[in-house]
Amino acid sequence: MPSLQIGLAGAGLMGRLLAWRLTLAGHRVTVFDPASGPEPAAGEARAAGWTAAGMLSPVAELECANASMAALGQRSLLLWPQWLAQCRQPVFFAQRGSLLLAHPSDRGMAQRLLAVLQSRSPGVAIEALDTTRREALEPGLQSQLLAWLMPGEGQIHSVQAMQALFAAASEAGVQWRWDQMVDAIEAGRLRTEGDWQRFDCVIDTRGLGARPELPVRGVRGELLWLHAPGVPLHRPLRLLHARHRVYLVPRPGDLIVVGASEIESEDRSSISLRSTVELLAAAHSVIPELAEARVVHSETNLRPALPDNLPLLHSEAGLVRINGLFRHGWLIAPALAEQALAQLELQSK
Ligand SMILES: Cc1cc2nc3c(=O)[nH]c(=O)nc-3n(C[C@H](O)[C@H](O)[C@H](O)COP(=O)(O)OP(=O)(O)OC[C@H]3O[C@@H](n4cnc5c(N)ncnc54)[C@H](O)[C@@H]3O)c2cc1C
Repeated sequence: MPSLQIGLAGAGLMGRLLAWRLTLAGHRVTVFDPASGPEPAAGEARAAGWTAAGMLSPVAELECANASMAALGQRSLLLWPQWLAQCRQPVFFAQRGSLLLAHPSDRGMAQRLLAVLQSRSPGVAIEALDTTRREALEPGLQSQLLAWLMPGEGQIHSVQAMQALFAAASEAGVQWRWDQMVDAIEAGRLRTEGDWQRFDCVIDTRGLGARPELPVRGVRGELLWLHAPGVPLHRPLRLLHARHRVYLVPRPGDLIVVGASEIESEDRSSISLRSTVELLAAAHSVIPELAEARVVHSETNLRPALPDNLPLLHSEAGLVRINGLFRHGWLIAPALAEQALAQLELQSK
């Protein structure tokens, strides 16, 4: 495949990952982003990739996704450890499965959801846990909880990964143009600061910034970080809850990320009292020992979503657009990057 000059708009999760892989494949990539630099500055709107809890849940997410999304997720679960091994900076990644939890009063709701998940993932053996097995896996859980193991699911530390992807891409030779907003993209060219710049191919990974070319919207998500030394948690938990998809995701440093609301609004302001109360009450009901945890951080961000809430990979001569990663960006980005590379290879034949 000949080496292409590629202009890429958007240095979020998808942009960093794709720029890195394209450069490793021999292309010359220049990335444009309105951010002031590779790390979000205080008060600046940050890429959604920084905020994500980093759950990699191809089975549990089938509640709001289809089989092709699950296939992208399963493929990405194979690619992440291989690709992270090529990064010089360490990134916490674990694949110990995740637990779906329900309070006994929600048994009916849980069984309906499990039937949906199982019918959409016939090859996966979701395991109902008895008390002994549940306590062996997660001894900190409230004793009455019903639990099911989603085997093979994983997690990635999104902040470490954003940093490591930038470092790996820079080392590979990616050129970064910070403080540069791209306000128009066409096949073979993009416009920044009033000037059209030509490339063999341009790639649009601007998330919400891809409007008006794409009908993308932002879906508000709020989450909190708890510092909980001594509270055992080994894998992501997901609690069935009437209003939120509440999850608890352990991170190194005795941290537990509790998320996340999903609100049809582009309001980026701080977390509301209502979401704080509901998310933390749910977390406490799952692990009573969290009562003495400290709330050390909260964050709000917007997930880029298309009208069907499914990801888009559009490819034509001189132009690739990837968007609509919604609540699944970390889950599916490597497989999408792999597909984008394959599309470019086809185009250049
Ligand atoms: C609260 C929350 C929790 C989440 N949890 C998970 C999870 O557990 N698992 C999971 O898989 N996913 C999760 N996600 C979703 C995931 O973060 C997103 O799907 C993913 O970050 C989208 O990646 P992206 O690269 O398309 O967009 P982003 O990461 O938002 O990056 C877009 C980039 O484009 C840049 N940009 C914008 N406008 C322009 C412009 N005009 N010109 C140039 N550049 C521009 C932005 O500055 C940004 O750097 C979560 C998201 C949120 C908000």
